[in-house]
Amino acid sequence: MSDKAKPCWYCGEDEQLSVVPQCTSQELADSPMLVQTFAVQCAACAAQGPQWTDAETAINLWNSRPMEDALQKRIDELLKALAERPPEDCHPVFVSGAEAQKHVEQLQARIAELEEKLDQWSADARENSDLGEPG
Ligand SMILES: [Zn+2]
Repeated sequence: MSDKAKPCWYCGEDEQLSVVPQCTSQELADSPMLVQTFAVQCAACAAQGPQWTDAETAINLWNSRPMEDALQKRIDELLKALAERPPEDCHPVFVSGAEAQKHVEQLQARIAELEEKLDQWSADARENSDLGEPG
C-alpha cells in the first residue's frame, strides 16, 4: 500500500505507512453513532492523515498536498533555470585553504587594529569626561 501513499509528510518515511481502520463517533440525527473510518498512519513518527469512511479516499487525502506540490514545482523551475543558465554568467570563486587562512589572518589583524582604536577612543572619552569638557 505504500506504493500508493506518498512518503510521510513529517519524517519522509516510505515503508512504514499503513491504512488503519478506526472508529469515529459522529452525531447522526442527534444521536451519537460509531462510524468506521480509515486513515493513513506512519509507524515511524505516528503522523496520521485525514480520516475517511473508505481506505482509498483516506489515501487520496493523505496524498493531497497542494502547498507541498506548489513548492516542489517552484523548486523544479528554479533547478531547471539554474541548469539552463549560460556558463558565462557563472563566476565561481575558488579559494584554497591557504588563501582562506591568509584572509582570516588579515581580518583578525584588522579586528585587532580596530579594537585598539576603540580602546584608545574609550580612554580619550574617559579622560575628557574627567576634565568635564570634551577635548
Ligand atoms: Zn512519519
